[in-house]
Amino acid sequence: MQRLARHWQRTGTPVVFVPTMGALHRGHLSLVQKARKCAGRKGRVVVSIYVNPTQFGPGEDLAKYPRDLKRDKKLCGEAGADVVFVPATREMYPAGFSTWVAEETLARGMEGASRPAHFRGVTTVVAKLFQIVLPGVAVFGAKDFQQSAIIRRMARDLNFPVKIIVAPTVREADGLAMSSRNNYLPPAQRRQATVLWRAIQKARNRAAKGRVSAAAMKLQLRRLIALEPEARLDYIAFYDPNTLQPAREIRKGTQIALAVFIGNTRLIDNAKL
Ligand code: AMP
Repeated sequence: MQRLARHWQRTGTPVVFVPTMGALHRGHLSLVQKARKCAGRKGRVVVSIYVNPTQFGPGEDLAKYPRDLKRDKKLCGEAGADVVFVPATREMYPAGFSTWVAEETLARGMEGASRPAHFRGVTTVVAKLFQIVLPGVAVFGAKDFQQSAIIRRMARDLNFPVKIIVAPTVREADGLAMSSRNNYLPPAQRRQATVLWRAIQKARNRAAKGRVSAAAMKLQLRRLIALEPEARLDYIAFYDPNTLQPAREIRKGTQIALAVFIGNTRLIDNAKL
């Protein structure tokens, strides 16, 4: 991959990059399609598929994370990728690996608070992938809103010459955000999983009517989530979409994020109200 990327750099070929962990669904493919449009006919689209061990915590689902490389490669081709890059862990983390990239402000709350070291793993692997693929543009999903904000900050702070594009969240017909982890849900849990989207809509409807305290809204959403027998709330946050700082009052334009366990599966979602 590195040789090809250097060749593209020498020939001035635009490179658009979509990093993923595979088990691709329509959400991922929307990013690849966006990358294809952005790269144009002369450009190249690279999709990486790598289940990055350093962004999983102890007891998380690294071992059972869904993998189907053959299917993923076919889907990437159909969506317009030129190259599917599948690095091996011995290449990404050679013996004695000891250098990390960590963003230290935006990564503190929400996912960072619930999953210590998660974002350090993400920023480290994305920095490495940027160095290997040498893209001019990289496409991320709004599904992982905090992640995209952190990557954008990292690119700015560390002078990566990469423009970060964030594409909207693709949802199932009933509102559930597409996720590789939805594969874990048996039918009864799959039905309960719509509670994340219902919570977002409830907050959105309330915010459309005027300002309300974040604490009061959280209480209402907690009650809604508690109605689902196998749902357990990890967090709900209302925050400013630019600074990721918590909002005391919510209104139209405030960002909501939440993480909910449905059985043993941890799902996240977010939206602008
Ligand atoms: P992952 O494979 O979960 O690491 O995700 C790879 C990229 O796809 C990330 O930039 C995600 O934000 C994005 N992504 C995941 N799910 C969706 C979705 N439902 N809609 C849009 N983008 C998504």
